[in-house]
Parts: sequence; C-alpha cells; structure tokens
Amino acid sequence: MRAAVLFTLPLPEPFDYAVPDGMAVAPGSIVMAPLGPQQRVGVVWSVSDAEGSNLKPLTSVFDTPPLPQALRDFLDWAARYLVQPPGQLLAMVLRSREALEDGPYETLVTLAPAPSEAGTEAASLRITPARERVLARAAAGPATRTDLAAAAEASTAVVAGLIKAGRLTEIRRAVDTPFEAPDPTLPGRPLSADQAAARDRIAQALASGTFAPLLLDGVTGSGKTEVYLEAIAAALAADPAAQVLVLLPEIALTQSVFARIEQRFGAPPAQWHSDVQPAARRRVWREVAAGRARIVVGARSALFLPFARLRLIVIDEEHDGSYKQDEGLRYHARDLAVARAKQEAATIVLASATPSLETRANALAGRYGHVLLPGRFGTATLPAIELVDMKAERPAPDHWLSPPLVAAMRDRLERGEQSLLFLNRRGFAPVVLCRACGHRMKAPDTDSWLVEHRYSGRLVCHLTGYSIPKPDRCPACGDIDGLVPVGPGVERVLAEARSLFPQARVEILSSDTATSPAAVRDVVARMEAREIDILVGTQIVAKGHNFPHLTLVGVVDADLGLKGGDPRAGERTYQLLSQVAGRAGRAGLPGVAMIQTHYPDSEALQALLAGDSEGFLAAETMAREGLGLPPYGRLAALHLMAPDPAQVDAAARAASEALIAAEGVDVWGPAPPPLTVIRGWHRRRFLVRADRSVDLSAYMAAWRGAFKVPGAVRVSVDIEPYSFL
Ligand code: ADP
Repeated sequence: MRAAVLFTLPLPEPFDYAVPDGMAVAPGSIVMAPLGPQQRVGVVWSVSDAEGSNLKPLTSVFDTPPLPQALRDFLDWAARYLVQPPGQLLAMVLRSREALEDGPYETLVTLAPAPSEAGTEAASLRITPARERVLARAAAGPATRTDLAAAAEASTAVVAGLIKAGRLTEIRRAVDTPFEAPDPTLPGRPLSADQAAARDRIAQALASGTFAPLLLDGVTGSGKTEVYLEAIAAALAADPAAQVLVLLPEIALTQSVFARIEQRFGAPPAQWHSDVQPAARRRVWREVAAGRARIVVGARSALFLPFARLRLIVIDEEHDGSYKQDEGLRYHARDLAVARAKQEAATIVLASATPSLETRANALAGRYGHVLLPGRFGTATLPAIELVDMKAERPAPDHWLSPPLVAAMRDRLERGEQSLLFLNRRGFAPVVLCRACGHRMKAPDTDSWLVEHRYSGRLVCHLTGYSIPKPDRCPACGDIDGLVPVGPGVERVLAEARSLFPQARVEILSSDTATSPAAVRDVVARMEAREIDILVGTQIVAKGHNFPHLTLVGVVDADLGLKGGDPRAGERTYQLLSQVAGRAGRAGLPGVAMIQTHYPDSEALQALLAGDSEGFLAAETMAREGLGLPPYGRLAALHLMAPDPAQVDAAARAASEALIAAEGVDVWGPAPPPLTVIRGWHRRRFLVRADRSVDLSAYMAAWRGAFKVPGAVRVSVDIEPYSFL
C-alpha cells in the first residue's frame, strides 16, 4: 500500500510513502514520516494499492482517531480559497503538539491478532473453561486485566497466562479525564414567544441534517444568548453524539458565556483559546476528536479542532473585526466557519445586534435564514441616545469630558448607579510633542507615533510593541521637560474622572491594565457587584458584558473611527457605538448613551440617534454596491515586503508586469500603504477588486504563480482584507 502524506509545512502537495506491513493507516491517520533528514508529523491524505518503487516507509502512526473526511475537505477548500499551501491549513489543526504527545495511558488487554506461530506454547496451550471464558470476553473488545478477569469470572492469573502464551496482547490507550456530559434535559429559562420562535427555527434547521446558515439578529439584550443556549440544548438532545462549537471574538468574553453554559447544562464546556495551558489543550483536542467533548467555547482557532460530529456552530458577535486574523495565516473565522459548517452539513448561527453588511446581504438575498428578535427582553429598554456637540460644549483645555457628560455622571453617582466611559484608545496620550520645537516622538523602524503610557512610564509603538522610557528632554532640540502629551487615551480620561469625582470608585479596563483573562474577569465581576462607580475602558468594555446597574455610557470621542480609507469605517463605527451604547439600561433601569462628537451631522451618528439602523445600513449598502465593494464584489490584497526599499519596488514591478488582464477584475497599485515601514520592512500593496462572478482565489493563485521574487522579499495574499493600514 502507498500513502500520500500532507505535512504541516508550506509545501504544494502531499508526498508518497510505503505503508509497512501490519501498520494500520487510513485517510486522516496522523503519522510520523521521514522528510529529508528529519522525522516529521503529517497526515495521510489518501491511500492507494498502487505499488511504489523506492518509496520510503512511514515510521509510525499516532493513536489518535484519523482526522475526519469533512475536516480534510474543509482544509482543502480553505487552502484553495485563501491561496495558501494546504499544509499551512493543516498546521492550524496540529498546532498544539501536546495533543500528540504521551499523556496519561491505561493498558488494555485484547485478543492477539493471530496465534503466534513461534509460540509453541500457544499451540500447545490447553484451553480450560476459565481460559475459554476469558478469550470469549476479550473478543468483545479491549478491557483492563482486572475488568476482563472479573467479567469472565476468572482470576487475573488466567489473563496473565494467556498474555504470556501469546493468545492475548496488551495495548496502551490514552485516557484523558473526560469532560462531564452536558445535560440538555435540565430546565432552561422559560422563553418569550419571540425567543421560542427563534429557537424553533434553529431546531428545525438542525433537524434537517443539512447545511443551514442562519442570522440571529436582535438588539443587545434581546436574549440572543438565551436563544442559542436553547438551540444547543436541542442539538444535544436530538443526537447523543452531537458536538457544538461556540466561537467568541475575545477571550475576555468567554467567561460569561462559559458560566451561562455551565449553569444551563450542569457541566462546564471545553475551552479553547491562547490562554489554555498545554495539558488542558491536549485533553480538549483529544476529547473533541473522540467526540466526548460535546460543547466547546473558543476563540477563532477553535474552528480547526478535529470534531468527530459537529452539528452546530454559533458565531457570537459575528460582525466583530477580531474574527479576522491578519498575521501569519490570514483568514476570517466567520467566513471559514460557514465553509466548515457546509462540509459538516451542520447548522451555523451567526448572532449579532449589528450584523455585518456581508451577513446582512446574505440574509436579505435568502442565502441565510433570518431569525429576528424584536426589542429587548422583559422590561429592559434600549438606551436613549444623546449627541454632545463638542464644538459647542467645550471641556476646559486638556480636558476631555464635556459639561453635560460630567453633569450626567454626577447625577448617576448621587443615585448610586454606574457610569461607563468609553474611548477606543489605549495609553495616556496618542502623541507626544515637544513644546519648544514641535518634534513628535515617532517609532524608529515603523511609521507610527509613540503613545505615552503613564502606568509604565514608557512611550510605546502600538503596532510593534517597541517601547522606550519617556525621555526627560526632547531628543531633537534638547529642551528639558518640553515633551507634552497631546490628546486623550483611556489613562488620561481615568485621571480626569478621578480628579472630578475624588470620592467615587473609578477604575480602568484596557488590555494594558488587565493583561490576563482572570484580570478582566476580576474587573467585570467587581463592576457587576457594584464595587465600581465609574469604569473607563477601551473596546474591551464595549462587548457582551451585562452590567445591571449601568445606566450611563459616555463615548468620549465618537469621531475616532470615522477617519481613514477603510471601506468599512462607517459600518464599524456604527457597530461599535451601538454595542457600547447597548451596555446601558439592561435591567429595567432606563439607560442613556451620551456621545461626544465634532461631527454630530455624520450619517452614522444621525442613524444612531434616530435608531434607524435600517436606513443607515441601506445607505452604506448602496454605496458599496455602487463601488462593487464587498459584499457586492470581492476584494483581495497582495502584500510585498522587504528590508530594502529598492528590492521591494523591483518585486512590485515584477508583479505588475505579470498582471493578468481579466474581465470584471480591477487592480490598484502597487502603492505604499499608510504604514509604509513596519519593523524596518518596507511595504507595497496591490488591491484587487472583482465582480462576484469572478473566482478571485483562482485569479490570485494564477497571478502569484506568474512572477518570482528574490528570497529577501515576502509576498502574501490576503483574501477579503479588513485592514487597510
Ligand atoms: P443578548 O445576547 O441578545 O445580548 P442575553 O441573552 O444576554 O441577550 O439576554 C439579556 C438579559 O436578559 C440577560 O440578563 C438574560 O439573562 C435575560 N434574559 C434573556 N432571555 C431571558 C428569559 N427567557 N428569561 C429570563 N431572562 C432572560
């Protein structure tokens, strides 16, 4: 037999090996095989009977279940779609090496394959009734020595004798502590009529047993989570082997969903994200592969787990930009999740209060089912929106909170309610400038300003993490104490809130102050327990959390997202502001969101004010349709990078010359992107727009194959880019 093995390397295709006699491999088996001088992990992509001369033999097989066909098909599809070597996708599945390493084992006894010829003992062995009972039992399946002996009503010595005689053999099998089985029959909360209808829609899709994508569309607090919990219950109850994956955009959000799942099903789900320790990863990976972990909650990489029987995927906050991975393998977890659901013939629920234009277009066109939850659950109402025109309501110099917002905060303090101040900017100040000569502190190897962080006393490049202690004199003119912070970051807003309300408990939540999920959890828990009066935070506070006593949300600067040449800028601003505003007034107390802006007339803000999301989205949609941008066309980027600007320009010329003219395809570039240099690498970019009827992946693959660049130049393809910096 011959096996084609795909390695977790950027190679174009699988390589052939001979399967040694007696080695049991099937498509999907994870194997060790020699590649050059090394032994490498790979996966059998196909097997055939064809004789192969001079093929090297496989070295060994891991005792994991083979990767299922649906997963392998998904990887092949994704490799083609993303214009990546298939091994690069396989690497996502096998990224946690500990999954293959030795873990806890048990030794089981089973029938030997055939009575060994050499063992004269075996031939001459007298089959006593006790031995016969043991052999009969062993034929029913592997068991431990003790269990086998007990089941056969024989002593363990009889079993030992049969092993010695070669009639029985011992095998080792990994035993990971199994996950407690979730119990879908525990009572859920009684659903409202709308919720029950939504749940039934999803349950119906599940029962169809075919690929079924659904948009679960309802404002924050409408009870989407409650609905998908009941949909999970339906999936688990309908099929005792069914597995469910819940994807969340941020690790910080997993805790609350984790707790709600545990409460609903009486058992904690498996978790998969970068913060999960290696031993736990091994257990999750193995238990998922064995089909025993039935509910997995995870970040985008959980999409690559080897589910045995995936029936339902939930993508919570499906519009969230963090589903797009922009480093290493560039992929959008939501888009790939839909593709995976298709391969698995599973149901996929995309949940959001502010669906992306892409998903919305799919729902409007009838490609996705549209499940609507009108209004908030129970007596909770949506917060009132107030726009604060910062041209009229000016804060004092070097202050950022307008008089109306400060008055509203004071009012909340007096009533014992909570306020949340939101600013999507880490650090103390986004720019540091010399008062004497005007010099701005810039990163040495990257086109970005250094951001002042007061907690660490450093100036930090947010793109690369480069940082220096804040100098006491201007590096350009030498002026002592001339460097001043310009503009606000969350740390500065925190300082302002504390000086305004010295008696209040004011705290901050940003990725700099809460560096682990546990730290985030701690702040969130104290906010829930009303141990905090005013919370100042970045987008980490905008999503998902449920603070019952929060009645005021202040958006410090709504104009941040409106600049920049990103086609999704307006949509993103709208989504972020509705998400953050949606934090207020969730438990029946009326909530207010006050939005500070210099552009109160902008379309996104006017739509928010009027609660007219449909109108806003319709206008955005028309604009995109007119330009043939996603979802009415496809986009891809080709990035080139090199340490030497002349070399990257030469490579960009080579790419230009190799361009293939095609109908329905526009290519812009090469152009230097706004961040022209990152970590000393000079960048050039092409943007490709294509009509929906064009196979853009095939186009990009053909183009990429049509030119060569020197080794020092990196070329990468980004299908559906989300970052235009
Ligand atoms: P969403 O996910 O749409 O933001 P949630 O599912 O978190 O909404 O629901 C918002 C709030 O309403 C939560 O506190 C939740 O516990 C509560 N809630 C939603 N549905 C129900 C229900 N059927 N019974 C009781 N409480 C509910």
